[in-house]
This record gives sequence, C-alpha cells and structure tokens, in this order.
Amino acid sequence: MQNIKEQLKDITATIPTNVRLVAVSKYQPENYISVAYECGQRIFGESHALELKSKYEHLPKDIEWHFIGHLQTNKVKYIAPFVSLIHAVDSLRLLQEIDKQAAKAKRIIPCLIQIHVAQEETKFGLSVEECRAFFERKEWRDLKNITIKGLMCMASNTDNESQIRHEFQIAHNLFNEIKSTYFSNNYNFKECSWGMSDDYPIAIEEGSTLIRVGSKIFGKRD
Ligand SMILES: *Cc1c(COP(=O)(O)O)cnc(C)c1O
Repeated sequence: MQNIKEQLKDITATIPTNVRLVAVSKYQPENYISVAYECGQRIFGESHALELKSKYEHLPKDIEWHFIGHLQTNKVKYIAPFVSLIHAVDSLRLLQEIDKQAAKAKRIIPCLIQIHVAQEETKFGLSVEECRAFFERKEWRDLKNITIKGLMCMASNTDNESQIRHEFQIAHNLFNEIKSTYFSNNYNFKECSWGMSDDYPIAIEEGSTLIRVGSKIFGKRD
C-alpha cells in the first residue's frame, strides 16, 4: 500500500479552497478508503454501480459518493437512493432515467453533463455542439427530481500540456456560455469537474471546482 495519508495531505495542501477533491477509489479495497476517511476525506468517486452500492453499504454513512464513470440506464436504480453527484450524464435518456429513479427514492439527484473535448474517439460525452443542442431543448427543464450543477470532461491522455490546457479552456468557455444562457439566476450551476492524477494542476488553473484523483492517492489499480 502506498502512503495514502501522505499523498492526500500533499494534494489537499496544494489545492485552493474553492476546489473539492474527489478521491477516486474504483477497484480499490475498502480498507484503503477507510484510511483516507480517517484522514478526513469524505468525497469518494466510483465508476461501477454495483461496486459503489456495496462500498456504500459497508462504509460510513457520512461519505459523499460520486459516480464518475459511464453510467448505463439499467444500473441507475442501484445508486439512486444514496448517490450525491452523477458526473458523466451524456444523454437525455440517461437523465430521464435518473429523474425517474430519483423520484422513486424521493430524492433530487445532482448531475453534471459530460462533454467531449479530448481527441480520443473512445471517450463518452457530448460535443460542444451537442451540448448546446441539449440545453436548447426544453425536456431537461421538466425533470423535477434532478438538478444540473455543471459540466464534466476528461482531457486527452497526452503529455502535451498545451493541448490539455486548451481542452479544459474549451470546457470552461462552454460552461460560462451555458451558465449565462440558462442559469443566470441559478447559483446551483457552478461545478466544473475536470482534472485527474496527471493533469489536475492544469485543470485548477482552467476553472475546475472538482478534481477526480485516483492513482495519485491510492496507487495503481488492479
Ligand atoms: C478513473 C477515473 C479518474 C481517476 O483517474 P486517475 O488517473 O487514477 O486519477 C477520474 N475520472 C474518471 C472519469 C475516471 O474514470
């Protein structure tokens, strides 16, 4: 086990107070999460619904669980009763299913819309144009059991720092545009989820409010 405590301390000491750290614990054992929890970490990110449900059941109830990965509509029901934020919503169909399951659980579930800014074609998310078209439609406004709190993205997996920065800037510009167009009177639209172990310092410079850091805290995943 790498020194989770030291790594967490290093990261939290260097991030501004307006940025929150999501400790990405996917594939990591529960005792690693407990170590981070004992250091005061309360927000954890997972990307598989059943793994998340099981960890939720075993670990302290004041943990804020974020779902960060691609979510299939048929898995929403497993996490709807307790999830604090769903980061990667990339279709109206998924948002409608989250709304439906949230209503069943008598909750309002905060969500982020995932946009695709990276060059890799395999990544999920809406293009800038698709994102504009999504917000232009009125359907999302009719959903009473979800609330859209911002945008999420992943940059390209590259060493090219200026490219990564450029992609985060595209995301941040789009965030500002969507905010001023649709959420000008709504303080809740405020989250920019970008930045992972290798690029979170750049992400913070480019407006991130939620960084999702896994391997830098917990070490390599199996
Ligand atoms: C796994 C994952 C992360 C964390 O990646 P690290 O490189 O380990 O920090 C962040 N965001 C998403 C969407 C992920 O799937």
